[in-house]
Amino acid sequence: MISVEKAIQIVIKNVGTTKDSEQKKISEANDYTLCKDVISPINMPPFRQSAMDGYALSINKDETYTIIGEVKAGDHHHPTLKTGEAVRIFTGAPVPDSANAIIMQEKTRIDKNILFIDAKVSLNDNIRSLGEQVSENQLALKKGTSLTPAALAFLTSLGITKVPVYKKPSIAIVVTGNELAEAGQPLKYGQIYESNALMLKTALANLGYQKVSVFKVADNYIDTLNLLNTTISNHDMILVSGGISVGDYDFVGKALQELEVEQLFYKVKQKPGKPLFFGKKEDKIIFALPGNPAAALSCFYVYVYAALQNMSGNSNLSLARTTAKSKTDYIKKGDRAQFLKAIYNNGTVDILDGQNSSMLHTFALANALVYLPETSGSVSRNNTVEVILLPIN
Ligand code: AMP
Ligand code: MG
Repeated sequence: MISVEKAIQIVIKNVGTTKDSEQKKISEANDYTLCKDVISPINMPPFRQSAMDGYALSINKDETYTIIGEVKAGDHHHPTLKTGEAVRIFTGAPVPDSANAIIMQEKTRIDKNILFIDAKVSLNDNIRSLGEQVSENQLALKKGTSLTPAALAFLTSLGITKVPVYKKPSIAIVVTGNELAEAGQPLKYGQIYESNALMLKTALANLGYQKVSVFKVADNYIDTLNLLNTTISNHDMILVSGGISVGDYDFVGKALQELEVEQLFYKVKQKPGKPLFFGKKEDKIIFALPGNPAAALSCFYVYVYAALQNMSGNSNLSLARTTAKSKTDYIKKGDRAQFLKAIYNNGTVDILDGQNSSMLHTFALANALVYLPETSGSVSRNNTVEVILLPIN
C-alpha cells in the first residue's frame, strides 16, 4: 500500500500532456488550455482611448479652456486642438492626437463654451495609450494559459476567433455491479440505485470534460473483460466504478491484468478509497475507483483531477487548498490518511458526521474535504487543518 503523496506523484509522472491539439472556435474553447503562444494581431486598445467622461485638453498653464467640439465613443472624427482648447469626450472615445490629457467631468465647471478646471492635470491623465494592454505582434497569452471567461474575452477583444488548444481526452465511465438498478425503475429486494455514473459524468462536465460515454456491466468476468477491452481501445481515459476490491465477484483487477494494463499502483493508504487502482496501457489511462460512492468521488477529486489537468495541459494539478480552524472534534482511528467531508466557511471548517465511504448524503452537504495526513492525530476544536476546496457552486 502506498501513501497518498506517493500515489499523486505516480499519477502526475505517468500522465503526460497530450500531443493532440486542435483549433477551437473561441465560443467553444471554455476550460481548454492554450497549446501555443497567441500573438496579438492588433494593438489593444487600437487607438488612444478616453478612460473617462470629461474633457480632452491641450494642456495650458491657465485653468480655463475653450471647448471646440465633442467626441463620443465610436466617433471617427479627429478635431485638432490648439493649446488651451478642449473637446467634450466620453469613455471609450478616440482621443484627438493633439490632446494630451483628459479631465473627468466631476472636476470641471462650464460657463458657455469656457471650461474651468478644479484639479491639477498631468500629461496623459485618463488616456489609455495605444497598445497599453498588448501591442500588435506581441505575446497576448502564453502557451499553458487556461481559457477562462476573462481569457476568452481578452482574445476576442483582439479580434481572435479561433484558438490552438490541447485536445481534451475522451473518457469512458465503466460501471460494474449486479445490484445496480436505474433510477426510475422499481427497486427489487437487494438492489440499489446506480449513482456513480451520473456523479462522475457531472463532476467531469463541471471541469469542462464533455466527451464522456457511460457503459454498464454485470459482475461477470467475460463481460467485464470484453467491455474493458473495447473501452480501452476507444477512449483516452477509463474510469471504472466498483469491482476492484477483493470480493469473489470483483473482476476488474483480473480483467485489467489479462488485458496487460500496467499496474502503477493498487491500494492507497487512505480512507476512504483504499482499493484505488491506477494503470496504463500504452498512453491510455485507467483508474478503477472503489464502488462506494463517497470513496469514488474523493478519489476523483484527488487523483483523476490531477491526471485530467496534466493531460489537457493545465498546470494546476490540485484543487485549491487552504488551512482552516476546525469547529469540531474528530477522532482519527488507524494510521491511514483521511479525506473528510466538511463545510468550509471563511477560515473555519466543520467536519461533518457520517464519514463512511458509502455516505453520499454527507458529501451532498460538503463543499470541502479536510485532509488529515497519515501522521496526523485526532482533531480537536480550533486545531488548524488542511482543507481541499471542492469545485462546486
Ligand atoms: P464494490 O466496490 O463494487 O465492492 O462496491 C462497494 C459498494 O459500493 C457496494 O455497497 C456497492 O453496492 C456500492 N456501489 C458500487 N457501485 C455503485 C454505483 N455505481 N452506484 C451506487 N453504489 C455503488
Ligand atoms: Mg461491486
